[in-house]
Amino acid sequence: MKIQIQRESLVPYEIDLSDVTLLEALKKIKTTQDSSLSFSSSCRSSVCGSCSMRVNGREVLACGYKLQDGDVVEPLKNMPVLRDLVVDMDKALSFNAKANAWMTPHAKTPALSEENAKINEVQSDCILCASCYSACPVYAVNEEFLGPFALTRVWKYVSDTREEDTKEKIDTIQTNGIWDCTLCNECTVVCPQNISSKMDIEMLRMRSSMQGYSDPNFASFGDDFGGGFGFDGSPVF
Ligand code: SF4
Ligand code: SF4
Repeated sequence: MKIQIQRESLVPYEIDLSDVTLLEALKKIKTTQDSSLSFSSSCRSSVCGSCSMRVNGREVLACGYKLQDGDVVEPLKNMPVLRDLVVDMDKALSFNAKANAWMTPHAKTPALSEENAKINEVQSDCILCASCYSACPVYAVNEEFLGPFALTRVWKYVSDTREEDTKEKIDTIQTNGIWDCTLCNECTVVCPQNISSKMDIEMLRMRSSMQGYSDPNFASFGDDFGGGFGFDGSPVF
């Protein structure tokens, strides 16, 4: 099987393997052909999120992707490449803190019922692989955009029935946040955990509207044309 790997340039490799994952192939190349090849991996079970990369332009977890002849393997986009297939995810990960994506500490956190735990069960499955930041066209042009997994995490805590004060979280995501998303759904398509950040962002938009916020792009559209529309859809001039 012949594949190419993006290093300083695209490097061809031939491997005598079939029916293997990309991670198995990378390990084989590293141990038998080129010990300098660099990539990240850990659990080998699609749980840790550390082996995310791109194949033929699409984000995958190397441990879960079955390699095909002719595949082109590249590092994630929109993040500095440290070496070969290893990227620096620090900036993307820092958005969790910037977006207040945590539960406000309580003197005594109430217990979460089994039923309420199901509300944000999917969002809790994020493995921080950063595939969604690699695929996001808005993050590609605005590196201050809070981005998919941070906003998913904000929705996780805003929708948590134990969180008493969601105002600060909603306030924080108004700038470089929910209204900058184009709802293109690329983040959903690449997520190995079937999380839809796009849908979570839509939920946050709805919650923001209930707290009196509106889409600033829509508001300026109204200004440009001498008017706009109120929350109930009625024209405001
Ligand atoms: S939301 Fe999905 S794609 Fe994004 S970091 Fe979490 S698991 Fe990865
Ligand atoms: S839906 Fe929004 S967050 Fe997701 S990839 Fe598109 S622009 Fe980015």
